[in-house]
Amino acid sequence: MVGGSADQPGAGQNREKLHFVIVGGSLGGLATGLALKALGHDTTILERNPKPLLQDQGAGIVAGGDTLDLLNRYNRCDRPFAVNSYARQYLDRDGNIVHKEEMVQRMTSWDLTYYLMRANYDGVKSPYCEVPDNTVPEPGSAVHIHDRNVTDIRKEPKDSGEDGVRVFWKSSQGDEGSIFADIVVGADGPSSTIRKLVQPKVERKYAGYCALRGTLKEDEASEETRKTCCERFTFFHGPGVQILTYLIPGKDGTVEPGKRLINFVYYTNFPEGSEELEEIMTDCEGRRRTITMPPGMTDPNAWEKQRKLARERLPPQFAEIVCGTKRPFVQAVTDVLSPEHEYWGGKVILIGDALAGFRPHTVASTSQAAFDAMIFADYIDGKVSREEWKKQTLGFARYIQKRGVDMGEHSQHMDLPLADHIHDRNVASTPREEEVYPDWATAF
Ligand SMILES: Cc1cc2nc3c(=O)[nH]c(=O)nc-3n(C[C@H](O)[C@H](O)[C@H](O)COP(=O)(O)OP(=O)(O)OC[C@H]3O[C@@H](n4cnc5c(N)ncnc54)[C@H](O)[C@@H]3O)c2cc1C
Repeated sequence: MVGGSADQPGAGQNREKLHFVIVGGSLGGLATGLALKALGHDTTILERNPKPLLQDQGAGIVAGGDTLDLLNRYNRCDRPFAVNSYARQYLDRDGNIVHKEEMVQRMTSWDLTYYLMRANYDGVKSPYCEVPDNTVPEPGSAVHIHDRNVTDIRKEPKDSGEDGVRVFWKSSQGDEGSIFADIVVGADGPSSTIRKLVQPKVERKYAGYCALRGTLKEDEASEETRKTCCERFTFFHGPGVQILTYLIPGKDGTVEPGKRLINFVYYTNFPEGSEELEEIMTDCEGRRRTITMPPGMTDPNAWEKQRKLARERLPPQFAEIVCGTKRPFVQAVTDVLSPEHEYWGGKVILIGDALAGFRPHTVASTSQAAFDAMIFADYIDGKVSREEWKKQTLGFARYIQKRGVDMGEHSQHMDLPLADHIHDRNVASTPREEEVYPDWATAF
C-alpha cells in the first residue's frame, strides 16, 4: 500500500513489483520512467503525440542541479551533455557590459536531453548518442507507446482487494483502449489531463506576456556578438522587456565551438485580448494558437514587426540574434499550480509541469521534473518517508511557482533598477538543497 499516514514509508517496504503507467513522454515522463525502471518496477509511458518521437522546438534548457543529478544517476551514454557558461552579465541599451559576475552554469538543449533519456529508457537510436548496454541489474520493463491520448482514469480493484487504476486512451486514428496500472503518474504537462480529472477547478492562466524564442548558429553571428555572448549568460532589461541569451549544443547535440547555437528568450508584453496578441499567436495558415506557436509557423508579417521592435528596443547584439533567427517560436507565459500532487490514496500522482507550470524566469521546469521523478522513486523505494516526499515536492512547486510570478511582475510590469533584477536572478539560482521553504509552501 502506498500513501496512508503522514509518516508511513513508501512502497519499498513491500518490495512488490509494481506497474506504473506514466502519462506523457516528455522529460518528466522519461525521468520518472528511468527512475522507476532502475528500481525494477515495470513502466509504460503513454504519449499522445501521434509520431514515435517528440518534435523538438530547438531551444535551450539551463541544466540545474537536479537535471544534472538525474543524468548522473541514470545516463550511461558517454558524450558531453552541456555547454559551460562561465559568467553572468547584463548589457545596457548600447550593448555595453554594465554588470558581470563569474558563475559556472551548464546549458543544454531540450532535444539532446530528450534523446539521451530515450536512449537510456527504451533504447531509441539517434545521431545524438550510442544506445548504452543495459547495465541496470534486473531493470523493470520500459515501454513507450506513442499516439495514446489519455482521456480518463477509473479505480479498479486488484485481486489483493487494493485499488489499482484503469487508464483509458484514444489514438489519432480513432482506436480506443485501456491499460491497468498499480499507480498512474501524470507527467502530462501544464495542461495535464490527469490533473483535470482529479482537480477540475485548477486553471492555467495567461500572464499577459509572451516569450519569443529561437536560436542563431554561433558561426552566423558577428564577431562582436560572439565575443559578447559566447559561454556567458547575458541579460538585458528594458521597460516591459527582458531578453537573455546563452549558448547550447547544436545539431545532433554537438558541443563543437562554432557549431553551437546562441539561444534567446525574449519576454515582451502582449496584453490579454489585444490585437498584438492575436497577431503574434495567429500562425501563417490563419490558425489562432493558444499557448505555443511552433517553430516555422509564425506569420512572417507578425514576425517582421517584432524584428523591427527588437532593433528599436534591444542592445545591438540581442537585436542581431533575434533578427537572425530563422525558426522563431512563441510561448505565451502562463501560470498553473495544483494544490496537491497525490490522489486516490497515492494511486494517482502529478509531477513536473502537471503539478506546477512555472514561468520560464525560474529556469526550474526541467529541474522540477527531474527532482519530482527522483524523490518519488526514493519514496517508492522506502528511502524517504511520505511526509518528506510531500514536503519537498509541494514546497518546491509552490515556492518556485510564486517566485516565477514575482520575477515576471518585476521584469514586465515594474520600473525597477537593474540591481533588483540582478537580485531576483541570483535568488533564482539558489541550489534547491539550500532553499528554505516557508510554512505555507509545505503545509498539507
Ligand atoms: C516537444 C516539447 C519541446 C519542448 N522544448 C522545450 C525547450 O526547448 N526548452 C524548454 O525550456 N522547455 C521545453 N519544453 C518544456 C519542458 O519539457 C518542460 O517545461 C519541463 O521539462 C517539464 O516537463 P514535463 O514532462 O513535466 O512536461 P512537458 O514537457 O510539457 O510534457 C508533457 C507531455 O505530456 C504529453 N501529454 C499531454 N497530455 C497528454 C495526454 N492526455 N495523454 C498522453 N500524453 C499527454 C505531451 O504531449 C507532452 O509530451 C518542451 C516540451 C515539449 C513537449
